[in-house]
Amino acid sequence: MTLKVVCFDCDGVLADTISSWVLIHEHFGTGDTDMLSRFIAGEISDAEFMSDDIRQWKSVQPQIHRDELLRCYSGVKLMSGAQQVVEALRERDVASVIVSAGVDLMIGSIAKLLGVDDWAANGFQYDDDGYLLDEGMVTVPAHDKGALIHKLVRIRQLQPSEVISVGDSSMDLSMHIPGSQFIGFNPRRPDAHDAFTDAGVPVVDSDDLRDIWPHLFPGESFIAVGDE
Ligand SMILES: [Mg+2]
Repeated sequence: MTLKVVCFDCDGVLADTISSWVLIHEHFGTGDTDMLSRFIAGEISDAEFMSDDIRQWKSVQPQIHRDELLRCYSGVKLMSGAQQVVEALRERDVASVIVSAGVDLMIGSIAKLLGVDDWAANGFQYDDDGYLLDEGMVTVPAHDKGALIHKLVRIRQLQPSEVISVGDSSMDLSMHIPGSQFIGFNPRRPDAHDAFTDAGVPVVDSDDLRDIWPHLFPGESFIAVGDE
């Protein structure tokens, strides 16, 4: 098979962040680990989870401007090797795409920084003055990120075998559509490591994205662009 597209999760894969949602919670001093566990278990929907997050932030500060949310991401760093991997893929005419259930404010800026070919994420709605509304916008269901991969395969007229997805959480396994490949990268949650092992996918226990390279191109180790 010829690799044509690599689909990356963002939080914990391209961005050195736990979660773009958690960064807003840290700003407002909110966050409910019980809701997160229920969400991971599939007991509440993406829309319910998002509106509950917004409710928590607004209980601290009723009026929240888009610029304030954007500032929550000012300290975000790329994962080590992310820039180099995207560049090296581009050199080989392999497209890089982000499929993230994270916040579009952050995912969009990472996408721009890396110059990826396409991206999808979840987002907010605002009033005419830029203040946050109560309901979010679900584009990427966290438990069914595969819907976006199927769409990508259809639009770009690919074979699933030409696609490899890279994720760090158990929910990212939904990107592993039949016929495609999946790489588990740096799973920080023990349940993610177990889920990857159970699914029989390769796991890269490293926090440098260049270490996925031998799984993208078997037999090769990463060679930085310009060093060849
Ligand atoms: Mg992630």
